[in-house]
Amino acid sequence: MEAAVPGFGRLREIYHRAVRDQRPAGAVSAQARYRAACRKAMVQGEPLEKASWPQVLAAALDREALRLVADTGGYDVHTGGAAAWIDVLFHTPPLAEYVTLSCGMQSLPRALHSAFEGAGGRTRWGHRLCRIALTERAEGPYELTFALEDRMGRDTGHRKRIQADTVVLALPQGPLRRIEAGPEVFSRFWREDLEAVEPVRAVKLFLAYDEPWWRACGVETGRSTTDLPLRQLWYAPGGASRLLLAAYPSGPSTAFWDRFDTGPSYQVPGGMGAFRAGPAAPAGAVDYAHELLCRMHRVRAHPPVAACWQDWGRPPYSAAWHMWRAGQAREEVAARMRAPAPGGSLHVVSDCWTVDPGSIPGTLGCAEQVLQEYFALPRPPWTS
Ligand SMILES: Cc1cc2nc3c(=O)[nH]c(=O)nc-3n(C[C@H](O)[C@H](O)[C@H](O)COP(=O)(O)OP(=O)(O)OC[C@H]3O[C@@H](n4cnc5c(N)ncnc54)[C@H](O)[C@@H]3O)c2cc1C
Repeated sequence: MEAAVPGFGRLREIYHRAVRDQRPAGAVSAQARYRAACRKAMVQGEPLEKASWPQVLAAALDREALRLVADTGGYDVHTGGAAAWIDVLFHTPPLAEYVTLSCGMQSLPRALHSAFEGAGGRTRWGHRLCRIALTERAEGPYELTFALEDRMGRDTGHRKRIQADTVVLALPQGPLRRIEAGPEVFSRFWREDLEAVEPVRAVKLFLAYDEPWWRACGVETGRSTTDLPLRQLWYAPGGASRLLLAAYPSGPSTAFWDRFDTGPSYQVPGGMGAFRAGPAAPAGAVDYAHELLCRMHRVRAHPPVAACWQDWGRPPYSAAWHMWRAGQAREEVAARMRAPAPGGSLHVVSDCWTVDPGSIPGTLGCAEQVLQEYFALPRPPWTS
C-alpha cells in the first residue's frame, strides 16, 4: 500500500482513530489527505485510478513474493481496479475483528423481510422479472413482466404483467443484464455502466465427517489456506462439530472443479447423504477434495458422511460478487446506477456499484442512499 499511495498506513491509522473517538472532523480531514495522495499516486507511469490491482502488486513485489501472495491468500488475486480496492482497505480498520451474527447471516435478510411484511409489504415468490417497458396508461409509467416459476425455480411458461409508478430493482449485474428493456426505459449509459464492474465466480464445498479428525492435527476452528485447488477451508467452531467448509475457490481457481460437473451426486450408504436443504455435491468433487484434505493435513480419515455444494453461477450471467474495473468514474457510475432512468422513478439497489462491492455493508449503504436521496427517508441512527 505504501508503495502505491505514500502515507497510506499513517493516514489510515489517523482516520480510524478519529472514527473510534467520534471525531468526525478528524476523520474527514484524514480522508481528504488520503484522497489527495491517491490523486497524485502513479503506478508504472500511470495514474493509480487507471491501474489494475495486479499492476500495483507487480510494481511493489518481486516474482517470488507475487507467487507467495497468490498461493497463500486463499482468494485468487483479482484483476479489478486497484484504486477501488485500496479504498476498501483504507476504510477497513487496521485491527479489524471479523464477526458474524450469532444466529447466522441468513437472520439478517429474515429480519429485514419480517419488518417489510410487518410494515404492510407483500412478497410474491416465484416471480422472475423478465421485461420492463414504459406505458402511457394511468396505472403507472412502468409495465413489468414476470415469468412465473415453479417451486424448483423452473419457468412454467406463464407470464404476469403489472403496472408500477415506482420500481426498485434489488438485483446484481447478471440478472439486470438479462432483463429485456423497452425503448427509453434506461438512459444511454445503462449498458456501459452495467459493465463497470467485473463478475467473480466462487464455489463452496461443505463436508461433514463422523469425527472432527482435524483436532488431532492441532486445528480447532478458523481458516486455513492452501495452494491446492481447495484454496481455503474453514473448520466449524463448537464442541462436537464435524463440519468443514472443505473447499472455497474463487476466481480462476473455480475452473478446476468444473471437470466434476457431469458426474453423479455423492452418496453415502446409510449416511446423511446431503445436508438438509443443501444442493447435492458431485461425487468426483467430494472424493478429490477428501483426498486433498488428507494430503494437506497428513492424515488418513474416513470419507465424509455428507456433502453439500454451492455454486453461485458462471459469469457473465451469474457470479458470486463483483469488483470495480480499472479506470471507472466510480462515484458517477454508482450515482447513475441508483437512478438509471433520469426523470423516472426507477432505481437499482445492489451490492455491485457501491464503495465496497460484494459486501453486505455495501448493499445496505446503497439501499440507504436510494431511500434518502429519492424517497426522502431520514438518516437512520445506526449509520456512521
Ligand atoms: C461466497 C460469498 C461470500 C460472501 N462473503 C461475504 C462476507 O463475508 N461479508 C459480506 O459483507 N458480504 C459477503 N458476501 C456478499 C453478500 O452476500 C452480498 O453482497 C449480498 O448478499 C447482496 O445482497 P443483494 O440483496 O443485493 O443481492 P442477492 O443476495 O444476490 O439477492 C438478489 C435476489 O434477486 C433474485 N433475483 C435474481 N434475478 C431475479 C429476477 N429477474 N426477478 C426477481 N428476482 C430475481 C435472486 O434470486 C436473489 O434472491 C459474500 C457473497 C458470496 C457469494
